[in-house]
Amino acid sequence: MNKEEVLQQVIDTGSLPTLSTVASKLISLTAKEDTTIFDITKLISQDISLSAKVLKVVNSSFYNFPNEVGTIQQAVAILGTNAVRSLVLSFSFLNMERGVEPDGFSYEEFWEHSLAAAVSAKLLMSKICDDDTEEVFTVSLLANLGKLILASAFTDRYSDIFSKAAQGDKSLHQLEEELIGADHAYIGCEAAHLWHFPESLTVPILNHHNPESYQGDDPVMKRNIEIVYLASLLANILYSGRPIDYHRPFREQAKQRFSLDDETIDDLLQRVHVEVAQAAEFFGIKIGGTLSIPELLQEANIELSQLNMSYEQINRELVKAKVKLEKLTTELEEKNTYLESIANLDGLTEVYNHRYFQIFLEKELNRSLRRDLEMSLILCDIDNFKKFNDFHGHQVGDFVLREVCRVCSEQIREYDLIARYGGEEFVFVLPETGADNAMIVAEKLRVAVATGEFFFEKMSYRVTMSLGVATLPPGGKIKRSGLIEAADKALYQAKKKGKNCVELYQEKSGWFKRR
Ligand code: GH3
Ligand code: MG
Ligand code: MG
Repeated sequence: MNKEEVLQQVIDTGSLPTLSTVASKLISLTAKEDTTIFDITKLISQDISLSAKVLKVVNSSFYNFPNEVGTIQQAVAILGTNAVRSLVLSFSFLNMERGVEPDGFSYEEFWEHSLAAAVSAKLLMSKICDDDTEEVFTVSLLANLGKLILASAFTDRYSDIFSKAAQGDKSLHQLEEELIGADHAYIGCEAAHLWHFPESLTVPILNHHNPESYQGDDPVMKRNIEIVYLASLLANILYSGRPIDYHRPFREQAKQRFSLDDETIDDLLQRVHVEVAQAAEFFGIKIGGTLSIPELLQEANIELSQLNMSYEQINRELVKAKVKLEKLTTELEEKNTYLESIANLDGLTEVYNHRYFQIFLEKELNRSLRRDLEMSLILCDIDNFKKFNDFHGHQVGDFVLREVCRVCSEQIREYDLIARYGGEEFVFVLPETGADNAMIVAEKLRVAVATGEFFFEKMSYRVTMSLGVATLPPGGKIKRSGLIEAADKALYQAKKKGKNCVELYQEKSGWFKRR
């Protein structure tokens, strides 16, 4: 919806409050140039209750006149027609039929907040110059009337807008524009037009959130708009629930726009809540009242420091939790690495197990085939180990198996693999190693074991082993099982030759294919 459509819907749904008869007659009377004090006096005097209220306010400390004002005629003469009109309008709205409250909207809070703005405007004017205060009072009182109108025309959306605005991310009028299509300043100003309010009231209503949007060149109008704007900041310190958010802007704007000094500002902040309570009494409305602004600010600062404190506490706990988590993660990673590694290791000898050997061999074989590299496999078997076990016992046998692995591990390169093939058989994978070098390694392994003395419980033991070597020459092609089988055949030859020796699988034509 555009703003004109929003306005039309407001009118169609009957959401515009009805102006009292006296107020609307007074507006048309004061618009005429030939109206006399007498005409105005006559109109107001017709409403006895209104007359009594006007006289009560005029004689209160709200005006501080030195002599008692006894009649409406005197009041009109002293105050002037514009002031009386404003006064009557204020009464008319403050005593308006309130009807059913839209959801999330409290008439009482609304008028209390509006009255605070009105009183603030009056106080500000008195600090700035000696001009009449009634018009800025009335404009401030009615500046937010658009909220009340929007809240009754768009009940659901408006309670949503209210709760979003309370979070403080977006301003109320931004949200009104986004979610309804028109802000309360526009709607309030248009309503004032429909009631035939004079420009001195409608223009400040339209610009009360943003004085810079006033394009005219009337200095009085400009000043009044700025006062209404400042008054709204001041009232927000009291009633927004976020005093700190409005305090600094109010101080800055008061200094910047009217060169008010700190002392004057402090005096205003100190007094405004008392003046609001008094005005409420003079205008005959009930209010809840608030603490003084310095007290509100102090309370908010305490809450803020408590918030900061608990924030720091939370932060400290978060840091602790993070450190703990990092420690746990490291531990977990270490455990995982350990678990992964032991999953690949043989439990007795702690060299790689058969499963891992098969995976490793497959990878190495593929890599060698891809890159045209040679590689060798050594299969070895401890000689007469059955007898050894029978003679010395299984425990010594186990010990020797571990020792053989340790000695052999010391003989090979880092990127070679030693694994337990099964029982007392071990296998070595030697990447990028041709037959000649593989034979040298196998011989080294044989000698290291055969010459090794293994001490167990003060007894020395010796074993020998037989080794079979098979090599994939560069450019050759063979399956994993083919290479193992070849090494096994060579090992068998070594056993047949009398054990404790190394045999190379002698390449018979066709044992591997040429690529
Ligand atoms: P050969 O020289 O022909 O290899 O004779 P061998 O006795 O070594 O061969 P055989 O295959 O007849 O026996 C292998 C023995 O290895 C049988 C078993 O007692 C022993 N052995 C296999 N695994 C283990 C083990 O984990 N611990 C111990 N202590 N002995 C094992
Ligand atoms: Mg065996
Ligand atoms: Mg054996």
